[in-house]
Amino acid sequence: MSGTAFRSQRAAAFADVPQAQWNDWRWQLSHRLNTAEEIGQVIPLTESEQRALSSSGLFRVDITPYFISLIDPQDPNDPIRRQVIPTAGEMVPFTSMMEDSLAEDRHSPVPGLVHRYPDRVLMLVTTQCASYCRYCTRSRIVGDPTAQFSRTDYDAMFAYLERTPQVRDVLLSGGDPLTLAPKLLESLIARLRTIPHIEIVRLGTRVPVFMPMRVDDELCEMLARYHPVWMNIHVNHSNEITEELAGATDRLTRAGIPLGNQSVLLAGVNDCPHIQRRLVQDLVRIRVRPYYLYQCDEVEGAGHFRTPVGKGIEILEALRGHTSGFAVPQYVIDAPQGGGKIPISPNYLVSMSDHKIILRNYEGFITTYEEPIEYTAHDPATCKYCQAKRPEPGQAGITGLLDGERLTIEPQGFELVHGRGGGQHRLNQDSGKWDPLGIGSGKPKRHTLPEADL
Ligand SMILES: *Cc1c(COP(=O)(O)O)cnc(C)c1O
Ligand code: SF4
Repeated sequence: MSGTAFRSQRAAAFADVPQAQWNDWRWQLSHRLNTAEEIGQVIPLTESEQRALSSSGLFRVDITPYFISLIDPQDPNDPIRRQVIPTAGEMVPFTSMMEDSLAEDRHSPVPGLVHRYPDRVLMLVTTQCASYCRYCTRSRIVGDPTAQFSRTDYDAMFAYLERTPQVRDVLLSGGDPLTLAPKLLESLIARLRTIPHIEIVRLGTRVPVFMPMRVDDELCEMLARYHPVWMNIHVNHSNEITEELAGATDRLTRAGIPLGNQSVLLAGVNDCPHIQRRLVQDLVRIRVRPYYLYQCDEVEGAGHFRTPVGKGIEILEALRGHTSGFAVPQYVIDAPQGGGKIPISPNYLVSMSDHKIILRNYEGFITTYEEPIEYTAHDPATCKYCQAKRPEPGQAGITGLLDGERLTIEPQGFELVHGRGGGQHRLNQDSGKWDPLGIGSGKPKRHTLPEADL
């Protein structure tokens, strides 16, 4: 590997663990630290951490020996420490805080399956993780063994997928799918592969980061039998990128699995353009493409991690143009109440006329793009892709407006409000008056020219 070597370190408390055990993911799982006493033996705890760890009702704590070893024990603000060791900040409520801020459970046709977008679903296959992130957006179920998904739940999810041909992409998540017993994980993926309309399978996992030894040859060979398989990992700071993680991503990419990274913008962890630039550059060195940078969700327990949105814009301003294009993630807000991911970015469009676009680049250079005066428009009538477009029932949205399926999208109750309770009268009985010509399935216009005059 070129460039400075990535680190690899083991906390003094684990110095005597034989290498074979250290490299055994089952040993890592069964030796996780979760009490003030255990964690305190590796890292001297602050008062705030002590208080959080001794309170009841806290989101589950568990840290693998491998991951806790990456913390600098002398630094109370260590960016890895902040992600996995709770502080009293977790117990402070804030305006807009919700248990399920993305309304995932409300938008699940069957428990654990979130079908929010037209062609893809999120499939929660476990509530367990290798370690627990303090800001977890699914803390309402994650870590809770009593919320675990059962055979019956899986059967209901598969039955839904089988009868829903619009789904072409299934995203396995949780919890963390790579904490499942290897046989169970394979049986779930194999079952997805029996459904012909499912084109791709994705895994969202933080196991390579918490426990890179889980990514062994056996796992990579198993996944490669079910291609196309894609994977997103979750790294928030360069300190998480070690020799071991680089080894895991090397094995995964050699097995043909494209890797992406999803990170969360977290106060006190990575809310700095320079930390973020280092992170994305280190990620592409280990062949992981930065995919999303999430604005922190309004989830219970995460208040102290939230930043203003402007911080994300500032970070994107420092990435686009300043480093490789494929190292720049898309910054998104996952909208509360199930609005889904909404991309946000600095503004590059300064102004426009009917044939000029005024743009600014990352350096502040302002330039003009001259648009063509003549343009032979794409003709949907002769385009076989337009003719065979994929249906997106009820979700065509803005693209449906552009496509001429309809003219407007109205707030619920719009017609009722604007009718003002007046009922039908001589001026409003002909609905042809407001049926747009050539849009949607409206009937032909009164003033449509007869065929002969065209
Ligand atoms: C994030 C997410 C997806 C996947 O979205 P992509 O933008 O395709 O990565 C799918 N379903 C749900 C509910 C999600 O939250
Ligand atoms: S790995 Fe993902 S699901 Fe698990 S605790 Fe962290 S954020 Fe939550």
